[in-house]
Amino acid sequence: AKSMGSNRLRVYKTEYGEHASKRTKLLFDLKAAIANKKLSVVYQPQFRLDDHSISGVEVLARWHHPEKGLIPPDIFIPLAEKHGLICEITDFIMQTAISELLQAELLYRPIPRVSFNVSAADFNTNQSSQRFLHNLAKLPEDDWSVVELELTETSALLNLEGVKNVLQVLRERGVQVSLDDFGTGYSSLSTLRLLPIQELKIDQSFVRDIASNAHDARLVKTILAMAKALQLRVVAEGVESQQQARYLAKEGCQEVQGYLYAKPMSLQALQSFASNIKAS
Ligand code: C2E
Ligand code: CA
Ligand code: CA
Ligand code: CA
Repeated sequence: AKSMGSNRLRVYKTEYGEHASKRTKLLFDLKAAIANKKLSVVYQPQFRLDDHSISGVEVLARWHHPEKGLIPPDIFIPLAEKHGLICEITDFIMQTAISELLQAELLYRPIPRVSFNVSAADFNTNQSSQRFLHNLAKLPEDDWSVVELELTETSALLNLEGVKNVLQVLRERGVQVSLDDFGTGYSSLSTLRLLPIQELKIDQSFVRDIASNAHDARLVKTILAMAKALQLRVVAEGVESQQQARYLAKEGCQEVQGYLYAKPMSLQALQSFASNIKAS
């Protein structure tokens, strides 16, 4: 009986690795999800504050785990980054969203922009430019200014040369570049100097308390003034209340994204949402 027990244990161990931890199981499952194209995308609309038209959508990755349910991207994206899986994810997310939006006839009108999150490893190889060109190849026009890449300062600075090379190629085709989570890094201003950036996304941690915290409100006001002086577009992230929206409008913020307006949604939900709102 004792040997049978240890046999059973051995079977279990070889299946999930000698030191079966939750993380290695999750990594194993993530690889399978990528290989079987089980990831999906949702879209969160962004709006112009002046006329409330849709200015774009941010594409967000989703993973419905067969047993564990929804795994947040804050868990599986860093895992993918650590284990060299992010390029496959980025390619899948970009291609899926582009074909879905084109198929549904949402891109250009009524949705004039689609934004993708990218990671440092997306710029690490000499195939990086080719990958992005390939991911966007389905777009019917030579003008790719409907596409935007959202880089964080970390993803931009970890491999500055690689990022510069890719952006040089993509900027020629009109692709827009946004600096995500603006203000949370160590050198947000250097990043602005080093890279061709057209948009800032004010991180939601700054937006959260603008109605109650005068210091945060002044910080946001200062970022908006700086963006204006540098002729950068600004999107405020994580807008959840009317007070926040009013303050942002008063201080000249052009665009907003947040639960107050719309949560991330499936393509199907986006279709009915977009048909119910005035197109830009
Ligand atoms: P992020 O790029 O800063 O995306 C914004 C996050 O804030 C999203 O979380 C979104 O659902 C959430 N959010 C939007 N409006 C509100 C609001 O009003 N209040 C609050 N509290 N949250 C709001 P999500 O989808 O869980 O994504 C988390 C992070 O995972 C993203 O942060 C991004 O860094 C990463 N991520 C998601 N999809 C991808 C992807 O396809 N590729 C890469 N590289 N990273 C991704
Ligand atoms: Ca983002
Ligand atoms: Ca962000
Ligand atoms: Ca973030």
